[in-house]
Amino acid sequence: MNERLQELLDAVQRTASQVGGSAADAAYGVGRRAGELLSVAKLNIRIMDLKGAVNTALREVGEMIYATHTGTLTESEVLLAKLQEIDALRAKIDQLEREITRLQGGGSCPHCGAAAQSGDAFCRECGGKL
Ligand SMILES: [Zn+2]
Repeated sequence: MNERLQELLDAVQRTASQVGGSAADAAYGVGRRAGELLSVAKLNIRIMDLKGAVNTALREVGEMIYATHTGTLTESEVLLAKLQEIDALRAKIDQLEREITRLQGGGSCPHCGAAAQSGDAFCRECGGKL
């Protein structure tokens, strides 16, 4: 494998766990207040927009990695910033989906925080008892 690409992937891997955790934590705190005024329909539109932004950012990451492969250097900081942007977008989507569940009368898993639908006995994410 291209040496530069390997460096880039190593840098990405080193930050993987810490980035994911902090983005999810930050989003969860904000979610409870922010969603109160929004209807489920508005939330769904927002989720669609965010998913579009995630797809765009993912394509950009792909382009950076491919450019590195073909010899155009991508700074690992630039790539990591883009990955963090995706983390933030995905955390926001997650938060909005929880908000929809809450508005529709479902709860959230006390173990992992994933959305639970009314009638579920066990969490669809972690399998914990609800
Ligand atoms: Zn769970």
